[in-house]
Amino acid sequence: MNDKIPCNIIHDLLPLYVDGLTTEETNGYIKEHLEKCSDCQKEYSVYKKELATLESITSNTEKKEVAYLKKINLYQKASLILGAIISFLLGACIPILKVGVPVILSGGIQEYQLARLRVAWSVGLMKMAISGLIVCAVYIIVMLMIKSVIKRKKINFNEKDAKC
Ligand SMILES: [Zn+2]
Repeated sequence: MNDKIPCNIIHDLLPLYVDGLTTEETNGYIKEHLEKCSDCQKEYSVYKKELATLESITSNTEKKEVAYLKKINLYQKASLILGAIISFLLGACIPILKVGVPVILSGGIQEYQLARLRVAWSVGLMKMAISGLIVCAVYIIVMLMIKSVIKRKKINFNEKDAKC
């Protein structure tokens, strides 16, 4: 019966056969035909090569996508850390401004203020650190909130996508 299968039918089936979509029975007929027919063998090797190329392109694209996502993730982390550092420094500036602005406004530093600064230098540093940490914590909380909102929106978007 196999011998009666014309080459054009085998040619039609080859793409499905290469993709593994044909049944066991059909596979048997195709294999038997391929063993005897060099024309179809050539056709088969072309399809196999195409599939291999396609698979390598797909895996390359996937690798590139993963690398790209990793890069974005890294940028996001770096910007979060940078933002935290900047907000800490800004927060640390608040006590300085609290002392510095009245000094600038009064047109010069008073003797008693200088004395107080000398005594309270360590207290001032502590105030700067605490103020910096508070601003930094607020920044991180706000960023995390924004991130979770974006995530929720993305999930909603995907759900809408799935419904369509
Ligand atoms: Zn043939």
